[in-house]
Amino acid sequence: MVKWVYTFGGGKAEGRAVDADRLGGKGANLAEMASLGLPVPPGLTIISDACSWYHDHGRALPDQMKAEVLQGIKGIEAETGRGFGDSRNPLLLSVRSGARSSMPGMMDTVLNLGLNDETVQALGHISGDARFAWDSYRRFIQMYADVVMGLDHEVFEEILDHEKARFGHELDTELTAVEWQHVTALYKDVIEQELGEPFPQDPDVQLWGAIGAVFASWNNPRAVTYRHLHNIPSAWGTAVTVQAMVFGNLGSSSATGVAFTRNPSTGAKELYGEFLVNAQGEDVVAGIRTPQSITEAARIESGSDRPSLEKVMPEAFAAFQTICERLESHYCDMQDLEFTIERGKLWMLQARAGKRTTRAAMKIAVDMVAEGLIDEKEAVSRIEPSSLDQLLHPTIDPRVSREVIGSGLPASPGAATGEIVFTAEEAVEAEEEGRKVILVRVETSPEDIHGMHAAEAVLTTRGGMTSHAAVVARGMGIPCVAGAGTMRVDLRSEKLIGIGGVTLKKGDIVTIDGSSGQVLKGAVPMLQPELSGDFAQIMEWADKLRRMTVRTNADTPTDARAARSFGAEGIGLCRTEHMFFEGVRIHVMREMILAEDEKGRRAALDKLLPMQRSDFTELFTIMHGLPVTIRLLDPPLHEFLPKSDEEIAEVAAAMAMSPKMLRQRVDALHEFNPMLGHRGCRLAISYPEIAEMQARAIFEAAVNAARQTGEPVVPEIMVPLVGLRSELDYVKGVIDRVATEVMKEAGLEISYLVGTMIELPRAAIRAHIIAEAAEFFSFGTNDLTQTTFGISRDDASAFIPTYQKKGIIEHDPFVSLDFDGVGELIRIAAERGRRTRPDMKLGICGEHGGDPASIHFCEDVGLDYVSCSPFRVPIARLSAAQAAIKAGR
Ligand code: ADP
Ligand code: MG
Ligand code: MG
Repeated sequence: MVKWVYTFGGGKAEGRAVDADRLGGKGANLAEMASLGLPVPPGLTIISDACSWYHDHGRALPDQMKAEVLQGIKGIEAETGRGFGDSRNPLLLSVRSGARSSMPGMMDTVLNLGLNDETVQALGHISGDARFAWDSYRRFIQMYADVVMGLDHEVFEEILDHEKARFGHELDTELTAVEWQHVTALYKDVIEQELGEPFPQDPDVQLWGAIGAVFASWNNPRAVTYRHLHNIPSAWGTAVTVQAMVFGNLGSSSATGVAFTRNPSTGAKELYGEFLVNAQGEDVVAGIRTPQSITEAARIESGSDRPSLEKVMPEAFAAFQTICERLESHYCDMQDLEFTIERGKLWMLQARAGKRTTRAAMKIAVDMVAEGLIDEKEAVSRIEPSSLDQLLHPTIDPRVSREVIGSGLPASPGAATGEIVFTAEEAVEAEEEGRKVILVRVETSPEDIHGMHAAEAVLTTRGGMTSHAAVVARGMGIPCVAGAGTMRVDLRSEKLIGIGGVTLKKGDIVTIDGSSGQVLKGAVPMLQPELSGDFAQIMEWADKLRRMTVRTNADTPTDARAARSFGAEGIGLCRTEHMFFEGVRIHVMREMILAEDEKGRRAALDKLLPMQRSDFTELFTIMHGLPVTIRLLDPPLHEFLPKSDEEIAEVAAAMAMSPKMLRQRVDALHEFNPMLGHRGCRLAISYPEIAEMQARAIFEAAVNAARQTGEPVVPEIMVPLVGLRSELDYVKGVIDRVATEVMKEAGLEISYLVGTMIELPRAAIRAHIIAEAAEFFSFGTNDLTQTTFGISRDDASAFIPTYQKKGIIEHDPFVSLDFDGVGELIRIAAERGRRTRPDMKLGICGEHGGDPASIHFCEDVGLDYVSCSPFRVPIARLSAAQAAIKAGR
């Protein structure tokens, strides 16, 4: 029989932190804290399977589950000495959502459940604070109407604003008991008017309504979007936690807050958080009042004159500090905590591993190794490879003067420039048009997520470091300045008004510095980040732990230098064709392609030779001591040809040909399906003189570089698009002949390798035969994906998104390797190739070489290296280490 409900409280719990699959992250960690003996209000958690049951059974709840819940509530009643629905000493409950992995703010929560016209009176009596009782009741009515009955919260806010103005109050906390009672009556009226049914007075009806609504919220649009963005399966469902309420809104000795055990932005080992006196739950995040700092140090640093928790409630603060230390050493990780202080007594309401910036993640991991909490492997495993992008973000050049037009909290680091937009929709539209934008909002809500994704950075004028904008931006790795109170957003006129009345319109350029919190007018020069300190330490550990080497795809000396500085250990792919597009080279190239015979081609190739030779000499010199793989000419020749009449006339003049004749030559080179046409090694077979020239350039450059650097250079020459061993034999014959010639001319011995790309299914299947001639394989997974699926990479965008939307495929196979199909071919080729040539070097050089999931696959298959674009080299180094750790190496 299923056990639907797990209880916790009074120093015991039926569940543990490891039960997050069933209990959700929130329920599991409440259970863990309760079992550690920490002060947690007693409660129960309904397992997440109940969520699927609810949706599969027309939004009903299983009877057995209901019975277990009622049993659990008896336990809560015993623990608290109160009764659910009791008209003298009522127990109030919170009904909370909690999925396996945290989805902050995406689903619903109901607080103060169990209040009605009768119990509110009792609550006023037992607390001796009628104002508190009515404040709690009006909160409950609003939340319940919103979450369970589907009435928008704005209706209530309008009423409250109106009444506040009438009573002459500015803050919610100023309303008296009688005034709240009056507001509550208006709330109940509006519900009945709008929905045609009264607000339910029966606590049992309230309870089942709230539990059902939390399950239903699993499928609300923002939760669905969030799951989609974070790859969370919809089958997981949410658990529901029902818990005794504790009250932070019970006067000036009560408070509620959120805290991180270390600074989530910098990683510094300091308690970091915000709280509000006389407030409940969501008030802190909602930005209704500006929260206060938890520690004195943080208060002083922020320049605030509003006292810290440390100052106003020293005992509760000390208790909290002790719990923070206890939880950090228990979980061996930085914690994100929610707490409430009820009349001086501290209660813990939530614990989870805290989200952090990449910089903070690095620092925390390195510090925790030094503190003996975790080891190097664990430190390396904790850094999300794709998040390294954040560190590779530019920062504002400190030497330039800044025109600061406003400032706020440095909520997520990095700097970005873009046009101002004021809505998420505009941000998305702009991104689709390829424009870079900064999303400017008063504050953000989960409805803005897609706009934040599309923006370069986010600026809000309200909210703290734990506001929605700040948390989400840090998670996404985009810069954010939050709560820029010195600035004002005028949505009607689409203007951002800064210090001294400086006004920027929609579309104006602004720069956001998420590291300092500054907002600058216009575009500002940026600096590349410094990759030292904690980053260097993590990378050093990663390099020690990984088995595969990491090379780069680099076509130019600039790429090669950048890649070396990011730690590349060689070039895995140098595409020689890119060298032919620049300046005068394209003309000579066109001359070669359009020549009528071999003699004409050779004349043009003679001119290209010194250019290629000097490119390769530079590349070998930059990469000295490291392997360099050069691929022979690969693309179909028409890519180099003039297209417009104007261009044709120009080239014809240069070649002393008539434009008409030239047009005929160009037309003759037209192919119906160039991706499957005259390209790759097929060119070298039709025109061996091209391969000859390239081989000569490579070997002469190797001689030059060896003489210059005094170190031998071992070029690896890669033949593209081989499907038959005989193709490779033919081209290799040309290369070997040129090698012998050059060595003889130079009087110098050069070792070199000739290998092939595996990018055709036939090559993969015949790998054992091809390996008789090939000294290495490099998996060209872009083409291999294209040829395996029979999907043209250049045309895929027309239908791949539809495929994804309709669930035909989960990932774009050009972004993340298709393990089952393309991956199987790689496995076959690796295994068959090594059967023939056991010491054969195997690598990958497609786009996937920088994709963490694909790198794990490469580790599995036992490849020797991955090669990726220069900026992804650090990501690949870290992913390769994580893959090796996971494989138990
Ligand atoms: P979320 O997942 O959106 O953070 P929570 O379930 O944590 O939702 O609840 C929202 C707010 O209500 C939080 O600030 C939390 O601290 C507060 N809260 C939840 N349960 C209780 C409770 N039993 N007593 C007091 N406050 C609570
Ligand atoms: Mg919470
Ligand atoms: Mg290719």
